[in-house]
Amino acid sequence: MLQSVIAQHIAKVRQQVEQACHKFERNPAQVKILAVSKKQSSQAIREAAAEGQQAFGENYLQEALQKQEELGDLDLEWHFIGPIQSNKTRDLASHFNWVHTLDRFKVARRLNDQRPEELEPLKVLIQVNISDEQSKSGIAPADLLALADQIMQLPRLELRGLMCIPAASDDVSEQRKTFAQMAALFKRLQEAYPQAQIDTLSMGMSGDLEAAIAEGSSLVRIGTAIFGARN
Ligand SMILES: *Cc1c(COP(=O)(O)O)cnc(C)c1O
Repeated sequence: MLQSVIAQHIAKVRQQVEQACHKFERNPAQVKILAVSKKQSSQAIREAAAEGQQAFGENYLQEALQKQEELGDLDLEWHFIGPIQSNKTRDLASHFNWVHTLDRFKVARRLNDQRPEELEPLKVLIQVNISDEQSKSGIAPADLLALADQIMQLPRLELRGLMCIPAASDDVSEQRKTFAQMAALFKRLQEAYPQAQIDTLSMGMSGDLEAAIAEGSSLVRIGTAIFGARN
C-alpha cells in the first residue's frame, strides 16, 4: 500500500530526531514529538494517529474543541500551546492533558480551580520569554522561580517544566545559545524542586529541532514538517 504523505513526513521527522539524538549523545526515548496540528484537519490528525503519533498540539481553543469532538473515538493526548485568554480557562482545564503556555499566576489559579475533579491534575509548563521580545508572551527568566513557587502550591496543577518560542533565527549557533539558556533555567527549576517530576523541556520546532535536541530538549513541537504548510 502507498504510504500517505503525512506517514512519510512522520517517518522522516522521527529519523531526524533519532539522528540528532545520535549526534549529540541523547537517548531518543527522552525526546518526544508533539505534532502541532493547528489549522490542520481532523482527517490529517487521524492519518498521523494511524502512524502511532499520540500527542497533538493546538493553538486555538475553539478549533481544538471541534477536532477533539470529531476525534473522540481515538485515544489522543492534547497539548495547548497557544496564548491563553484568562476568560477561556474553563475549557482548557477540562479538555487538555497539558498546557505549555502558562506565564501568570492568575491563569494558573483559574486552571487549578476549574480542573474537573474526575481528571488527574493538569500538566503544565511555564513559558519563558527567553529572547526578551516585547510582543511575545512568557515570563522573564528573573521571575521564573517565584511563579514556579506559586504554581507548586496548586494541587490540581502538576508543574512539569518549561517551554519557549525563541525569536526566529537561521543561525544554528544563535539557536543553540538561546536553547542553552533555557536548559540552564530548567536545571535551576529541577534543583529547586528535587522531589517534583520536572522532566519536560518543550523547545524546538520544524526549523530548529536539531539545535534544541543538542541543548537538551525533551519535547519538540513539529507542525509544518509533519502536516505541510498550514491553510
Ligand atoms: C505553530 C507552532 C509550532 C510548530 O511550528 P512549525 O514551524 O510548523 O513546526 C510549534 N510551537 C508553537 C508554539 C507553535 O505555535
